[in-house]
Amino acid sequence: MSQLDQAQWFTEISDRDGSAFSLRINKKLEAKQSPFQLVEMYETTDFGNLMIIDGCTMVSTRENFFYHEMMSHTALFAHPNPKNVVIIGGGDCGTLREVLKHPTVESVHQIDIDEVVTEMAQKYFPELCASNQDPRATVMFDDGIKYMKEALPESIDVIIVDGTDPVGPGEGLFNHAFYTSCLNALRPGGILIQQSESPLMHIELLKDIRTAMTDVGFADLQTLPFPQPIYPSGIWSCTLARKDEHFNGFRESDVEAMPFDTEYYNRGIHLGALAMPNFMKRQLNK
Ligand code: SAM
Repeated sequence: MSQLDQAQWFTEISDRDGSAFSLRINKKLEAKQSPFQLVEMYETTDFGNLMIIDGCTMVSTRENFFYHEMMSHTALFAHPNPKNVVIIGGGDCGTLREVLKHPTVESVHQIDIDEVVTEMAQKYFPELCASNQDPRATVMFDDGIKYMKEALPESIDVIIVDGTDPVGPGEGLFNHAFYTSCLNALRPGGILIQQSESPLMHIELLKDIRTAMTDVGFADLQTLPFPQPIYPSGIWSCTLARKDEHFNGFRESDVEAMPFDTEYYNRGIHLGALAMPNFMKRQLNK
């Protein structure tokens, strides 16, 4: 098998998954070790700029819309009238930009633990940071675990956990204590949405996430699969959890009439994601 020339290719080797993923590169742009993680930037030949955190692909210019749109619009349109939103993580600001497209949203607080991620995003993904100056947005740098623990009870409509994998600083974003903090901070009918890894490669972790959300008292869950070209296996998921109430579809007519553009998300995509593939249904006993 031909070895990829490391001078021409970035490769993420995922030991836990027995898989590797490569993108051809022109050059390494910058690397910065923060107190929390190593953030590297590459210019690729075909995917634009590429951000790597602790060796894991995070976001590229060409394909980030799948993730940012599914991590925002699915939850916001499933909520009847989302006004106050919190994003935990999301340092590249792509999710923030999508949330701010919603006219009902009155405030978004984004809390990422690592300012270096946003510094790099502002430099190499300016299009993702285009809404950072929106008067409704507050971009903060702190531990999201601490922020949620201290959040005012019943003060938030939608919490988006746009975190790294459950390792390093992101590990504490996947446990009972954190989900309890989120439940307390949500208003009745409020929605927590979290990136819930790959339904193909990480089904046991996905089951644990769902079990923990149910254990702490969320009334109803939805796990939606979507394409994620640069993550292990190429199929990813987000899991939505609702406080006090069951999900009741989503605002389909508002999606049809949405006053902004998307690259991936639309009414049919949302309906399709809710249909859930059979392998997921079997594994999640749906
Ligand atoms: N949005 C990206 C994408 O398109 O796939 C991936 C997620 S984003 C880069 C992950 C963020 O989670 C990182 O910026 C990281 O600093 C942040 N993070 C990890 N642990 C955190 C914690 N405990 N509190 C707040 N942010 C955290």
